[in-house]
Amino acid sequence: MSQFDFDLFTIGAGSGGVAASRRAGEYGAKVAICEELRVGGTCVMRGCVPKKLLMYGASFSEQFEDAAGFGWEVGAPKLDWPRLMAAKEAELDRLEQIYMRLLSDSKVELIAGRGALIDAHTVEVAGKRYTAKHILIATGGWPVRPPITGVEHSITSNEALELEQLPARVTIVGGGYIGVEFAGIFNAAGAQVTLLLRGDNVLRGFDLEIRERLGEEMRARGISIETEVEVRSVARDNGGPLCLLLDHGEMHETDALIYATGRTPNSAGIGLEALGITCNPDGGVVVDERNRTSVPNIYAVGDVTNRINLTPVAIAEGRALAETLFNNNPTVVDRRDVATAVFSRPPVATVGLTEQQARAQVGEIEIYSARFRPMKATISGRAERILVKLVVDKQTNVVLGAHMVGDDAPEIIQGLAVAIKCRATKRDFDATMGIHPSAAEEFVTMRFPRPDE
Ligand code: NDP
Repeated sequence: MSQFDFDLFTIGAGSGGVAASRRAGEYGAKVAICEELRVGGTCVMRGCVPKKLLMYGASFSEQFEDAAGFGWEVGAPKLDWPRLMAAKEAELDRLEQIYMRLLSDSKVELIAGRGALIDAHTVEVAGKRYTAKHILIATGGWPVRPPITGVEHSITSNEALELEQLPARVTIVGGGYIGVEFAGIFNAAGAQVTLLLRGDNVLRGFDLEIRERLGEEMRARGISIETEVEVRSVARDNGGPLCLLLDHGEMHETDALIYATGRTPNSAGIGLEALGITCNPDGGVVVDERNRTSVPNIYAVGDVTNRINLTPVAIAEGRALAETLFNNNPTVVDRRDVATAVFSRPPVATVGLTEQQARAQVGEIEIYSARFRPMKATISGRAERILVKLVVDKQTNVVLGAHMVGDDAPEIIQGLAVAIKCRATKRDFDATMGIHPSAAEEFVTMRFPRPDE
């Protein structure tokens, strides 16, 4: 009989925590998981899933426009925003039930409430204490807003996913993943969207050409992108519109203000300090390659570690931990060449090195890129250009990175990520038959590298 109530106690039922707990339960471990909000965490309840459902819903506007070019007589389409929100909410409820069922099928005990560490083997939830041999911190992250005057009048992605009515004007601060994704949703839904960036373009850290292409496409869709601008303060008079004072001294009026200025790890107030668990200055829990914290039986996975903040990475980390602890199969997650997509309009997807990273890290490289009008746009009349790009090591011919802006980019790059993971060469790409007619075939038909500048 174990001296502990559980073999594993997980704090946080998001992607990483649920994955670790279920896998551990399947290996026969006695597992509990606690959650203070909804089961499913950021991805399912406040992120990837509702965001993509709203993106699907809003994007029909573009398809109605395109359909006219193909001979359809489409009346004036109108989005019933509350109906879309209700449908989205019903789907989230369904998913939450599924998550709860999956946990119980894996014999994981679900405990409602916020968990906090009491000592290295004890967690307290809703006034009750539980002991465990191993403890996993999987508390995720939370949006942060800069502390400017009037910031309380703004919302974050959490509330933006629950707006009861579609605002006529939406202003978004921040041009990272969340900023450009929400700009796409609200623009497609019919709002007048302004993106305020403190830098010179969207998606800092992505390939420069990709950033430029996306910025152009967003502007072409009517999104106003204002660069090198910061908000000094926000005010609202008598329930009227919001008034933003910008650092140029200009005023900007809007009906909804969304801050998409990053997320911070949920590492405060759960007893980490008292146990001496080390955190980075950004709040990320420090872990080794096996996700162990500085206290040997306490682990952390996912956004709370603030490394690669993506759902599939959190899931892989959670499963690796369960393999290591409960299946005698020590597993380290391979963090190279993690593919990622931004569900902007059009979407961006990327895997491997950007041109700029490759130049800095590898030295001599070749760049293959193609910009073309998708076939659908010929008849629809949409002035859209897809960009595909390969970054190749000149010496070894290995493809170091693949990038795309255009419809279906996430679906296409996922496949290429396998090739890049297998260290495919440009010659392998060239020897691959294209699928015709498709946008994807451009990745295997680019013949000449871009001349060196
Ligand atoms: P990001 O870190 O991606 O982007 C933050 C943006 O806010 C940047 O444009 C940044 O500008 C700007 N910013 C930061 N601080 C300020 C400030 N004080 N004033 C003005 N602008 C500011 O954060 P997000 O919130 O967009 O997303 C968080 C993370 O969530 C992502 O990095 C990603 O890991 C994950 N995510 C993944 C998604 C996906 O896989 N599709 C979707 C959504 C989120 P600058 O560039 O100048 O620093």
